[in-house]
Amino acid sequence: MGFSTDAIHAGQKPDPVTGAVITPIYQTSTYAQEELGKNKGYEYGRTHNLTRQALEANIAALEKGKYGIAFGSGLAATHALMSLVKSGDHVVISNNVYGGTYRLFELVMKDYGITFSWVDTSNLKNIESAIKANTKLVYLETPTNPMLNLTDLAGAAEICKRHNLISIVDNTFMSPYFQNPLTLGCEIVLHSTTKYINGHSDVIGGIIVTSSDKIHERIRYIQNAAGGVPSPFDCWLILRSTKTLAVRMERHNKNAIELANFLVDSKIAKKVYYPGLKDHPQHELAKKQMRGFGGMISVDFGDIEKAKKILKNVKIFTLGESLGGVESLISHPASMTHASVPKKERDEMGLTESLVRLSVGIEDIEDLIKDIRDALK
Ligand SMILES: *Cc1c(COP(=O)(O)O)cnc(C)c1O
Repeated sequence: MGFSTDAIHAGQKPDPVTGAVITPIYQTSTYAQEELGKNKGYEYGRTHNLTRQALEANIAALEKGKYGIAFGSGLAATHALMSLVKSGDHVVISNNVYGGTYRLFELVMKDYGITFSWVDTSNLKNIESAIKANTKLVYLETPTNPMLNLTDLAGAAEICKRHNLISIVDNTFMSPYFQNPLTLGCEIVLHSTTKYINGHSDVIGGIIVTSSDKIHERIRYIQNAAGGVPSPFDCWLILRSTKTLAVRMERHNKNAIELANFLVDSKIAKKVYYPGLKDHPQHELAKKQMRGFGGMISVDFGDIEKAKKILKNVKIFTLGESLGGVESLISHPASMTHASVPKKERDEMGLTESLVRLSVGIEDIEDLIKDIRDALK
C-alpha cells in the first residue's frame, strides 16, 4: 500500500460490535474475564489496550516495521531502549541529539554504569573509531537539532552490522513520511509522536518501531514491566493525526523550501541552515536518504539585536519550544533548548547567540514571509 492509504487504514478496522469506522477510545483499566483462566486476550489496561494496539500497528506500517511499541512520551521511549544495555556497556551517540536525550543519558543513565561516547556522526569514521569492545548500541539523530547536520544512515547501519551493534535512529524531525531508517538497514526507529506525527500540539507521546522479534520482545516486556504507557485518549488523538500526516508533511516541506529561499534571496540572514538548500553541505545525502527536507530551518541573523527583534515582533510565529505542529513556532536555541550546552561547544557547532530556529507550520506561506519581513521593520 501507499503511505497515505496505510496512514488512513493500517491497524484499524470497523468496530465489530457497532461498525464504528473510527477505532473507539477504550477508556478502561480492566476487562471482564469469562471464567478462571479464560479471557478475550485483554486482562489489564497497562498490558493490553485496543486503541493503543491500533496506533502501534498504524505507525509500524508507516515506518515499514513489524512492531510498534507506544509510550507516554518520546523520552519514556528512549528510556525503555536503555533496557537493551546493562551496567558496563557502552553507547556511541550523535553529539548533537535532542537535549532531553543528553540529560537522560549523561545525568541519569551514567549512574547505572553505562558509558557514552558523543561523536559527530555526520562523519562515519567517527562512529567506527568510537566503537569499543563493550559497545552495544549506536544512537543516531538525523537531521540534528538545531544545526540540521545529517548522518548517512545506510553507511552507519553497515558499520553496526559489521560490529554486531544495534542501530537506533531518532526519526522525529523527518517523520515516517520523509525518512524510513529501517529500509536503510537500521534496526530501531524512535519518534517523539509529540511532534510531526501528532502534529497538533496537543499530545505528549513516543513510539519505538522495529522488525526484530528479539528487540520487540524485550521492549514489549519493558512497556508492561516499567509501565510508561500512553493514555487511550492520547493514542486516539495520535491515530487521528496520522491520517493527515502525508498532506501536512507536504505542506510543511513546501512552506519551508519557500521560506528558506526567501531568507537566502532577501539577504536578511547571515546564514540559513536547511537540507533543501543546494549549499547545504549534505544536500546530496539529503536527496538520497530523505524524500523531502522537512519543516525545520535554522537562521543565523549574524547580530543578536536583529535576532531579538524578530523573536519579539513576529505575530504569526509563536515564541515557544517544541516543533512539528500545524502552527509555526520560533525559538532561540542558545537560551532555550540548548542553554545547558557550554558556550564554547555551542560556538564550535555554529549555535550562536544570533541563531533562531523556525518550525515552519502549514499556514499560508505569503503570511509567514510577511511576518518575518514585518518583524524586522
Ligand atoms: C521532543 C523530542 C524528543 C523527546 O520527546 P518528548 O515527547 O518531548 O518526550 C526526542 N527527540 C527529538 C528529536 C525531539 O524533538
